[in-house]
Amino acid sequence: MQRLKNMLTLTELKSLLATPQRIVITTHHKPDGDAMGSSLGLYGYLIQKGHHVKVITPTDYPSFLHWMPNNGEVIIFTEEQEQAARLVEEASIIFCLDFNTLSRINELGELVRAAQAKKIMIDHHLEPEDFDDYRHWDINACAAAQLVYDFIANQLEDVAGINKDVASCLYTGIMTDSGSFRFPSATSEVYRIAANLIDLGAEHWKIHQLVYDNASEDRLRFLGYCLSNKLEVLREYNTAIITVTKEELARYNSATGDTEGVVNYALSINGIRLAALIIERTDKVKLSVRSTGDFPANEICKKYFNGGGHRNAAGGASDKPLNEVVEDFKALLKDYKNQLIA
Ligand code: 5GP
Ligand code: MN
Repeated sequence: MQRLKNMLTLTELKSLLATPQRIVITTHHKPDGDAMGSSLGLYGYLIQKGHHVKVITPTDYPSFLHWMPNNGEVIIFTEEQEQAARLVEEASIIFCLDFNTLSRINELGELVRAAQAKKIMIDHHLEPEDFDDYRHWDINACAAAQLVYDFIANQLEDVAGINKDVASCLYTGIMTDSGSFRFPSATSEVYRIAANLIDLGAEHWKIHQLVYDNASEDRLRFLGYCLSNKLEVLREYNTAIITVTKEELARYNSATGDTEGVVNYALSINGIRLAALIIERTDKVKLSVRSTGDFPANEICKKYFNGGGHRNAAGGASDKPLNEVVEDFKALLKDYKNQLIA
């Protein structure tokens, strides 16, 4: 549902960006490769133009993203709340990347809502909340980083402003959110953009290595443990579930990002249409749900677990104990049996 008009026109936004602004870039809770790639990519572009820019993340993020150019400039809200709040309050422009409801940035959300700044949403998730002044939103985009590329190259008509640092960040976002260019969202256009980013300096082989071959020994052993001991395959529903307790996370010294991608192993089993990773975190139980084809993982997350996401990759949370969440998940499968075995 695209709004009929942006409150700020592209021409107005361009003229605003023609003089140095105080800019905050923010992205979603527990940022992933696309969240950091789109944010640091846009950061790298805007600082060249003489703007005063800060990236503020609501929380920390995985160490396999710390290599990214300008990572040292990121402010983590939970660690520097006062400074972050001041920057949001004083900003003239706030870019909101890879999310579209303010609840996705935790307490930072209400600060952004109250801020005087013009708010620019660049995102590819369903059902945006109406808090922004300018929106570059397309659910068919494979990554927010693809939309940042499009924003710079086509809307601002400044592809020359994409230097090696910017290209590397945007490539990372596109690579991670497209499952390394293998999801249906990785269209020929996405491949063309990736090729352009390589021409602009992104070293695709090195980026792949930095993101995917950067695990701690604990992480790999944790993965092995999950696959040998915690994987449950429900053939009747073509569904696989991996359940992880708080104690197990502690046993493997689990760090932010260590559980990322684990759910995909469950989905990689022959014939499996739906996979869930259900993790007991300190405050709630979190679910990561993945599906193949038309099966709506986001519908399950929205309907039963107060969450959402994309059709094939979604998430949610529950305040119930872990075993009850697992039972709830298994129970709902009955309603989807026809779609799961089709
Ligand atoms: P992940 O399983 O990797 O945490 O998230 C997969 C997808 O689901 C992401 O696109 C993310 O935006 C979405 N998602 C994850 N958790 C939540 C949630 O609690 N609420 C909503 N609305 N979306 C979520
Ligand atoms: Mn994304």
